[in-house]
Amino acid sequence: MAEQHGRSRSRLQALDAAHHLHPFTDSQALHQKGTRIIEKGEGVYLWDADGNRILDGMAGLWCVNLGYGREELIRAAERQLRQLPYYNLFFQTTHPQATELAATLATLLPGDMQHLFFTGSGSECNDTVVRMVRHYWATQGRPERKVIISRHNAYHGSTLAGAALGGMKPMHAQGGLPLPDIVHIDQPYHFGEGQGRDEHEFGLERARQLERKILELGPERVAAFIGEPIQGAGGVIIPPASYWPEIKRICRQYDILLVVDEVICGFGRTGHWFASEYYDLQPDLLCMAKGITSGYMPLGAVAVGGRVAAGLIGGGEFFHGFTYSGHPVACAVALANIAVMQAENIVERVHTDTGPYLQRAWASLGEHPLVGETRGLGLVAALELVADRQSKRRFASGLGAGLVCREHSFDLGLVMRAVGDTMIISPPLVITRAEIDELVGKARQALDLTYQTLMN
Ligand SMILES: *Cc1c(COP(=O)(O)O)cnc(C)c1O
Repeated sequence: MAEQHGRSRSRLQALDAAHHLHPFTDSQALHQKGTRIIEKGEGVYLWDADGNRILDGMAGLWCVNLGYGREELIRAAERQLRQLPYYNLFFQTTHPQATELAATLATLLPGDMQHLFFTGSGSECNDTVVRMVRHYWATQGRPERKVIISRHNAYHGSTLAGAALGGMKPMHAQGGLPLPDIVHIDQPYHFGEGQGRDEHEFGLERARQLERKILELGPERVAAFIGEPIQGAGGVIIPPASYWPEIKRICRQYDILLVVDEVICGFGRTGHWFASEYYDLQPDLLCMAKGITSGYMPLGAVAVGGRVAAGLIGGGEFFHGFTYSGHPVACAVALANIAVMQAENIVERVHTDTGPYLQRAWASLGEHPLVGETRGLGLVAALELVADRQSKRRFASGLGAGLVCREHSFDLGLVMRAVGDTMIISPPLVITRAEIDELVGKARQALDLTYQTLMN
């Protein structure tokens, strides 16, 4: 049996090396190590091609919120495939799934967000944002309002506009990004960039960079500010409490649209349907994807607040959309996903039970000699690996401490992700207390093994 597993794994690895270019991957390094092959999922667990069971501490890529193998989602997809596998939303048509989903989302969204524009992914949402924001200002007779301000180390996807809005330096370095009229300010990353400074003051200072940038550019040229409520791919960066209220104040004062990218935070991750509720952001536009279908089908949506919706609706044809905007199978799965979340009170459970439980257990890792800080909210959390706990000195960057910890974690049967030397988790929202104990226990073992590897 083991031999058979081995043969099938080797064959796939060889084919993969010969034919498959992976996203965000150094191909040569990957194939020297050998690709990991995941074959099956059930609940919060994955099984690899050797039959090893792995606890998926990242819910795939922050998306499999209801866990693997949910019959309700599978049946919704199958039913829709038989009924109407595809139709478009152009040329004076809709289908029930897209319209029902738009109406359902409008009941879940905060504030006056009553309109939805569907896409196929988070990146497409952010491309849509750039076009929508600029078109909106044009409909208001202000076409010179073009500039969008984002943050360094933000992640907004990998299309041209997504990568340009994002603030990932290695992405910008490949291919002439960012695009014109997209600029960046510093991120509210207290552990990484504000050590020794008062957290409240640091949050205010980082938010006020927005005001300085607006004044430098000229407020009449600035269209919008975009940010993730909590930065995900950048390392689960939770801004100081002073940050968002000040950003909100500045956007209002200079009449700048506020765009929030809730591709990770949306759909219960923080213990609220949207983190915009938690931070009381009242955005003009809100991007969602990932958890909207628990990752079972690709889908994204941009929620549009009253002011922008009025501009778009009165502004003639908006020349924008995708063949797969509001794909009926994806919308059917999203509706089923929301129905299960409501029937099982998933958001409430994260808010009052599993979220606080995970955060308490995770915080106990802060006593480990390798850990300089732990942080989190709901079912997303991070810890910072440091060479010295007292001074919070980090490891030399060439050491790859995060990758060492990630490898140990995987070998122990836990998917934990490394962003530099920040270890992050974002497990399925259906995770139980017993599974949280297992997750945190394995994370602790991974830290112990990392300590042995690095400190000897
Ligand atoms: C994943 C992500 C995106 C991009 O979504 P894709 O579906 O991969 O295009 C955009 N914004 C945030 C905050 C994300 O985490």
